[in-house]
Amino acid sequence: MYLYNSATHKKELFTTHTPEHVEMYTCGPTVYHFAHIGNLRSYIMEDVLEKYLRFAGYDVNRVMNITDVGHLTSDADEGEDKMLKGARREHKTVMEIAQYYTDAFFADCAKLNIKTPNVVQPATGMIDDYIHIVQTLLEKEYAYLAGGNVYFDTGKLPRYYVFNEHKEEDLAVGVREGVEEDTNKRNKNDFVLWFTKSKFEDQALKWDSPWGVGYPGWHIECSGISLKYNGEYLDLHCGGVDNAFPHHTNEIAQSESYLGHPWCSHWWHVAHLNTADGKMSKSKGEFLTVSLLEEKGYDPLAYRFFCLQSHYRKNLVFTWENLDNAVAAYEKLIAKLASVDPKDGEVEPAALGALEEQFRAAMDSDLNTPNAVTVFYNILKAPASGATKWAAVEKIDAVLGVKLAEKAAAARQRMAKAALADGGFSVTCQSGESDPQIEALIRQRAEAKRAKNFAEADRIRDALKAQGVEITDVSGGVTWRRIS
Ligand code: AMP
Ligand code: ZN
Repeated sequence: MYLYNSATHKKELFTTHTPEHVEMYTCGPTVYHFAHIGNLRSYIMEDVLEKYLRFAGYDVNRVMNITDVGHLTSDADEGEDKMLKGARREHKTVMEIAQYYTDAFFADCAKLNIKTPNVVQPATGMIDDYIHIVQTLLEKEYAYLAGGNVYFDTGKLPRYYVFNEHKEEDLAVGVREGVEEDTNKRNKNDFVLWFTKSKFEDQALKWDSPWGVGYPGWHIECSGISLKYNGEYLDLHCGGVDNAFPHHTNEIAQSESYLGHPWCSHWWHVAHLNTADGKMSKSKGEFLTVSLLEEKGYDPLAYRFFCLQSHYRKNLVFTWENLDNAVAAYEKLIAKLASVDPKDGEVEPAALGALEEQFRAAMDSDLNTPNAVTVFYNILKAPASGATKWAAVEKIDAVLGVKLAEKAAAARQRMAKAALADGGFSVTCQSGESDPQIEALIRQRAEAKRAKNFAEADRIRDALKAQGVEITDVSGGVTWRRIS
């Protein structure tokens, strides 16, 4: 499998420290608010990656942190504490906020068919481990105490800018306009490992440490959690592209200085989901959450399908129109599969193998999910038995995770029920709706076709289209859906 590695800026053959085993780490959510669907794009793509690694025969140990302390509104050591901000907003304690939004995050993940990692570790549960790492970094002189805080000394590293596609000005942490420079820092990219001088009078969570009562910086939590649960050699580290700098750069700095050897061999970053007018935001405009999608009548899995249609390294623009297009394609696929009889013939191993091979070729090429999705269409068009088609869809959907077979089976059941009631000809709406006027027109068209009056049949199809209704002929009837 070839994967793009952000640390080397090229596609590389994916290899692991231990054969057939992947140690995988994912930066988890900061639980001060609901995740927006941009955050969830990253988690969907990481889920596909994990599932494909398993499909390819690897045993995967996937670890995720929950950031419930230390993350400031800027990814550098500036701005407000995100958790405090959430607690103030909702008049709750930081721990109440953390629990509430952790649960909300996993509820969203379940709706998007995202598997929970083997290990999920809240950052606040590992304070002693961070203290041990910070102490070691001080002993090794990679860290220093200044103004009450412990800083990592980036000047001690032979190489700091690992993801150096960034321009120098992007890296100018602490020299942004309106942000006061931290004069304690020896180098402008030094970062806090442990705060004892809280900038916040109401800092809620504090722990005793050899340097005084305080709390950990954001970056140290991911190093600490990964070192504990993934061990000293990490094969794959994931996150959204905004995590690359400074977060991941700082993780590499502190983990490798602590260990004394290279740490993670493969860095995998998901590009952003943006709105048409720019960045996705939790505070400006519409706050795009899974609940909002549901309120507007969208199936969260249609959003997953929308994400799969784009490559993870390309920015993706979210508009309702783009989502509607994905919904249309998704529903059409379900209808097409529903029109295939799973009991038709036997599973043909050679045909199944060939279809699976197409899927592997797409995924082995830097997890090309848009091409993998087209394999669904190839399966439906293939000169193979119905049983083979269903088996192929189920096999690749175990990775892509849009529940095509489950949805198509439900559609078949609805069609069978309707057919019983209708003496053999079923009319079903793909979204489960019923509309007597539309259904009557569809039946008139079927009558016209039976009478070989094709001009009338076409006229009715066009009339339905003018009403915003698209129809698909399937075996034993017709399915329909609204297109506007
Ligand atoms: P946070 O909860 O802010 O720590 O972010 C959780 C994850 O979402 C991280 O991996 C981020 O890199 C990622 N992320 C943040 N914004 C976006 C976005 N607009 N599109 C895709 N991923 C994002
Ligand atoms: Zn992280």
